Amino acid sequence: MRIVLLGKPGSGKGTQAAMLSEESGLPHLSSGAILRDEIREKTPFGMQIEEYVLKGEIGPQELITDVVFGYIERKGYASGFILDGFPRTVYQAEMLDERYRPGMGVLIDVPDDLIVDRISLRLTCADCDAIYHGTSRPPASSGICDSCGGKLEQRSDDNAGAIRKRLESYRNEIQQVIDMYRDTGRLLTIDGTSTPGEVYKSLKNATMNR
Ligand code: AMP
Repeated sequence: MRIVLLGKPGSGKGTQAAMLSEESGLPHLSSGAILRDEIREKTPFGMQIEEYVLKGEIGPQELITDVVFGYIERKGYASGFILDGFPRTVYQAEMLDERYRPGMGVLIDVPDDLIVDRISLRLTCADCDAIYHGTSRPPASSGICDSCGGKLEQRSDDNAGAIRKRLESYRNEIQQVIDMYRDTGRLLTIDGTSTPGEVYKSLKNATMNR
């Protein structure tokens, strides 16, 4: 099963994808995490996209698509995955349909005012990209990742300026992707405003019990 999670930055895609991955056994692929790894490892691609990621902008489309597809191939994930953060544009959605057509796109719906609060208190593991939140999902030990013991940090693009930019590019680009999934009968929308556990129940209903 190939599933795409659609939603604003901070809508809970990463948290929900990790929960669904654990229960379903499907691998969780986050395009943002793949790009951040490339930046950390200072690969030529990482250096090329670093500026875009820091500013919260959509980077060079063809290149990013190639890197995400290369990752799927290398890991042997072509037959099933939960994709988070990709596709973000019509170009990416069309390429994805051509190569690994997903069976459904789940939109996690959250209003903007909740997003800013969530992202500004978000903490991310520098090693495994696990996500925490200062008040609603704190780690057991302050500053340390429960899963791998890595250091928790605030992502450099989780600041007010970059959040605004990311919401703006989301609005410009993603609506057409959502329309594409709706027009092909593959869109499911769930309410993302409640607790991670409650949202997960809806996600599970929408995907695993279908
Ligand atoms: P995310 O972890 O999904 O919030 O992504 C962090 C940043 O990585 C975004 O603000 C973009 O700069 C970049 N990024 C992630 N996924 C994509 C994508 N599918 N296309 C273009 N840029 C992306």
